[in-house]
Amino acid sequence: MPQDTLDPPDWSAIREQGHRMLDDMFDYLEHIRERPVWQPIPQQTRELFREPLPREPGDLAAAHDTFMREILPFSVGNAHPGFMGWVHGGGTPVGMLAEMLAAGLNANLGGRDQIPVEVERQVLQWMRELFHFPPSASGLFVTGTSMANLISVLVARSTWLGADVRHLGVAAGDKKLVAYASAGAHGSIAQAMDIAGLGSDALRLLPVNKQYQMDADALRQAIATDREAGFTPFFIVGTAGTVDTGAIDDLAVLADIAQRQQLWFHVDGAYGALGMLAADIAPRLQGMERADSIAFDFHKWGQVPYDAGFILVRDGTQHQAAFASPAAYLKREARGMAAGSPWPCDFGPDLSRGFRALKTWFTLKVYGAERLGQAIATSCALARYLAQQIEVAAELELLAPVSLNIVCFRYRCADADRVNAEIVVRLQESGIAAPSSTTIDGNFAIRAAIVNHRTAQADLDALLRATLQFGAACCQGQA
Ligand SMILES: *Cc1c(COP(=O)(O)O)cnc(C)c1O
Repeated sequence: MPQDTLDPPDWSAIREQGHRMLDDMFDYLEHIRERPVWQPIPQQTRELFREPLPREPGDLAAAHDTFMREILPFSVGNAHPGFMGWVHGGGTPVGMLAEMLAAGLNANLGGRDQIPVEVERQVLQWMRELFHFPPSASGLFVTGTSMANLISVLVARSTWLGADVRHLGVAAGDKKLVAYASAGAHGSIAQAMDIAGLGSDALRLLPVNKQYQMDADALRQAIATDREAGFTPFFIVGTAGTVDTGAIDDLAVLADIAQRQQLWFHVDGAYGALGMLAADIAPRLQGMERADSIAFDFHKWGQVPYDAGFILVRDGTQHQAAFASPAAYLKREARGMAAGSPWPCDFGPDLSRGFRALKTWFTLKVYGAERLGQAIATSCALARYLAQQIEVAAELELLAPVSLNIVCFRYRCADADRVNAEIVVRLQESGIAAPSSTTIDGNFAIRAAIVNHRTAQADLDALLRATLQFGAACCQGQA
């Protein structure tokens, strides 16, 4: 048989090409400020990605050239300092390099006896330390907080209904489980209830106070009402940093209620949980250390390249009971490669898993917790600066208090909703700055979420200048 490997016949040629590719990415990151944040995509670029399946081999240099010209300029731009849309991390050169090493190693982190799994366990141990969780706590890298929230609901579900629910299904039981979150909670919580077979209607969305935190009295009342009506309350979600306004629920009060009512206490800390790294934010997260589970992302405030979500569960036994399953081909041994049980695949739905832990390990080793915490604190200071500038500008108004790093505001104008929606689109199309939008108390809001470590005061000044300019043009245009 002829040898049929996909490795190159000439390693020196691919080495040279590889160095060019690496240099191009360093150039991209070094000079990212000279580029627009985002730009509209020409139709002919879109068409390039609608070709039939390539049958014949192509040239690596040509594919890379297409990447540089047709892909790289047309991403959403979250590595750019002017990006303030949604809640996206900026990534780092260190994370990029680690991702390359992980791809070269091509480790499958489902399990087995290998140091890559120990690297994941090392990050888990660091997270136990950061969140003051006990040594028996378990944890797992997942795609993102959406998956982490789902895992938490599934662990709580089998803890409440018994492991039988895993083969009998929820329909076999007569308990109607209900969960609680604030109206500001992320949509992935309702989706998790749906996927878990409990139904999104079984998630009670409670009103918020003026700080956009869950109203604790409304929570107590809702639990009592549900119990009277024959429902089984099981799950309270506190949010550490809501997507709309960056509000942090009063986690200590929620922990008290969960304890008294004997309910599972979950914290959705997608970006806010890593506020633990910043000295001035950590005290505001008090109560999180009492959670039964915490979902968060390293790819947001942790600046690790996508994707790197994490779920931390206080009781590792409960966590494992919700997912572990016997399969002959996954048999464990005391020695050899099949040692080292339990494996990561015993704690979630994925069997094959990438080495997300490596880019996270590199990020924590190279920057260190303090430097990362400083970047988080800076993004909050920048948000406060932006809020101050909005408050002194007669044409602008703040629509929600600034709790962390998210600023919701608008241009004052009759027909404000339509005008501000137009401003957001023009900002994005200008390439100057890229906020996104949301609705605050029924009003359209321009929403700037400062997550990227590259964002500086000058980027906010550019956002303000462009907002005033487009606002004046749009408001006058429609009057
Ligand atoms: C981003 C976010 C999520 C979803 O996380 P993904 O990583 O995008 O899946 C959930 N909750 C909150 C509060 C978020 O900010």
